[in-house]
Amino acid sequence: MAGSAKPEAIDNGEDPTEPTHPDLPAVLFVSHAGEAAGAELCLLDVATASSASSIVLLLSDGPFRPLLEKAGVRVEVLAAANAFHRVRRETALPSLSALVSIPPIVRKLAARARDFDLVYANSQKAFLVASVAARLARRPLIWHLHDILSLEHFSRTNIRLDVALANHLADKVITVSEAAKTAFVEAGGRPTKVKVVHNGIDAAPFLNVDKAKASQEVRSRLRIGPEPLLGCFSRLAPWKGQHVVIEALAELQDVHAMFVGGELFSGACHEETLRELSQTLGVAERVHFVGQQNNIPRLMQGVDIVVHPSTAPEPFARVLIEGLLAARPLVAAANGGTPEIIDDGANGLLFLPKDSADLARAIRYLLETPEAASAMASRARTGAIANFGREAYVTGISDEICNAANVSIRYS
Ligand code: UDP
Repeated sequence: MAGSAKPEAIDNGEDPTEPTHPDLPAVLFVSHAGEAAGAELCLLDVATASSASSIVLLLSDGPFRPLLEKAGVRVEVLAAANAFHRVRRETALPSLSALVSIPPIVRKLAARARDFDLVYANSQKAFLVASVAARLARRPLIWHLHDILSLEHFSRTNIRLDVALANHLADKVITVSEAAKTAFVEAGGRPTKVKVVHNGIDAAPFLNVDKAKASQEVRSRLRIGPEPLLGCFSRLAPWKGQHVVIEALAELQDVHAMFVGGELFSGACHEETLRELSQTLGVAERVHFVGQQNNIPRLMQGVDIVVHPSTAPEPFARVLIEGLLAARPLVAAANGGTPEIIDDGANGLLFLPKDSADLARAIRYLLETPEAASAMASRARTGAIANFGREAYVTGISDEICNAANVSIRYS
């Protein structure tokens, strides 16, 4: 063990909420994002568990840092140049300024990595620089692949580069779903490198919520009456498919939809496009945007149906597990890792991706057969607690960290 990264406990006025695992190796977790989307919230749980010996290094400052610090995780920010952050994963070739920005980050990361037993890249962008840095520092490397390596999400060049780096430099690739593993392997990734660990969520905040009160709060906030209310809990981005819900509203009389989530990575103004679509379809008064929120368990239990309408393969959305835990009827587009979470007709309903008529059909069914919907929702919660718990998730990742760190002898 490198053993030189034992942070002082951070005095944030609270006891750390989760027990740490002091026997875990010292890990340099690397995240390119300062925002707190799904991959970062997954990292929060893992980094909290190993906070006694590890740190999170962010390549960009943002709201994710205080979340980590509040959980007792030591954070360092190594701000990468804007040109690095401006590279889009769907772009074929990065700009010259982006290419020039990479070597200094790699050098600094490599220098920092020497103080740790293992490097853990939590995003594709972090992996690009951390993979080379780990090799320079002679440290084992894990890539936690939270994405589906398909052309809907990445350029061909990016996929080839990711796979080549993974095959040559990663000791382990953890994928969030079988679907993400399949995409990696179909792109040329070595299957023997891969371990699938499904995301897991802490059930506690979803239990003992007074649903009637939560519903009343949401309705008075949106200034609506007892009409049916759909909830969509994702960052606003074209592939998250909010537009499909708006199209479905045109076929569903009196049904409202609340969109929870901000424009986290795009910097674009997708909300404006969605508002224009709502106007065009004549449903604007039934469409409600509330922006990024941090009380998802309560908001979810304030809606009648949770909808997850992604139009491109969804790796393994946390929000789906949260929907199951909230014990609300759930409808999701059947793509990517979603069928590994939703068993159609048992704990939720699947619909054809991009097909607003099929989504409207599923919503109508749930509204017209409330007993069936409610039975599905209560089965959903029981199953999610059993299959997608946070403890099993953290243990699964920690095991991979320990296994990979054990090979560090090769590097010394
Ligand atoms: N989320 C949140 N506030 C919002 C919208 C979403 O905290 O306003 C959370 C949501 O509860 C989930 C995460 O963001 O835990 C999104 O993760 P997911 O894997 O579903 O999607 P991603 O954004 O990573 O593609």
